[in-house]
Amino acid sequence: MGLIYTLANQKGGVGKTTTAINIGSYLAEQGKRVLLVDIDPQSNATSSLGIDKNSINGGAYETILTQRVNSNHILYNSRMKMWVLPSSPALAGAEIELVDMDVREHRLKNALLPTQDKYDYIFIDCPPSLGLLTLNGLISAMNGVIIPVQCEYLALEGLGQLTFTLDRIRMQLFPDLKIRGVVMTMFDTRTNLAKDVIEEVRKHFPGLVFKTVIPRNVRLAEAPSYGVPISIYDPNSIGAHAYKSLAMELLREDHSD
Ligand code: ATP
Ligand code: MG
Repeated sequence: MGLIYTLANQKGGVGKTTTAINIGSYLAEQGKRVLLVDIDPQSNATSSLGIDKNSINGGAYETILTQRVNSNHILYNSRMKMWVLPSSPALAGAEIELVDMDVREHRLKNALLPTQDKYDYIFIDCPPSLGLLTLNGLISAMNGVIIPVQCEYLALEGLGQLTFTLDRIRMQLFPDLKIRGVVMTMFDTRTNLAKDVIEEVRKHFPGLVFKTVIPRNVRLAEAPSYGVPISIYDPNSIGAHAYKSLAMELLREDHSD
């Protein structure tokens, strides 16, 4: 049975998509069957993998609407050895359309659970909000939520709202929802502030912060414009080493359970 992890943080630009793609591609490189599910109407994960969001014939939107994964909507990238359920512009309407649907928070989970055994890992990349798309993502997180947090002043500020949402979901919809781990991103070695931020986040989430810290590295920001993960764009960059190490950390812990 594959593991399902959801990348979430309602704060924008913290590294959700970069983390989903690059952990995913390193796990795929290890021979794992990885599916990336893009439920962000911005379609950043989809376009970062070189897929033209306007040319797809279906994806996450149809999946949520029908509560079923249509295998024709899953794209396989043979270079990255990874599967993608893409996002498309239609997904922007889903946030509103979902309001009146039944089981509105459970539709993505209902679609994904029957396909769980086809993959070793499913990563769901959420938009920067706590709306219904993200709720669908969180309720699908059978093995936990991965929270990227940028190493910056007031990093903990927005996390209160996220942990409040997780608590509410546990009370009302999914009691077993857990935080799989917090990933510290965009670490800048030149400042003392970043180290203090990591300390503070470690205190706040004891035992939940991944040991691997992701540095700020321009190569990570460049890779998406070439439609490839860092493992292909620049495997020797510090960003590549960090994401490989994070993927291995996740893999080791998943196997020690
Ligand atoms: P959104 O909330 O809009 O979905 P996000 O949380 O998914 O954003 P990303 O898109 O992964 O965040 O990252 C935001 C921007 O920062 C992107 O341009 C990305 O290429 C860049 N970026 C991400 N991680 C790093 C890093 N470690 N070093 C340098 N640039 C980075
Ligand atoms: Mg994103």
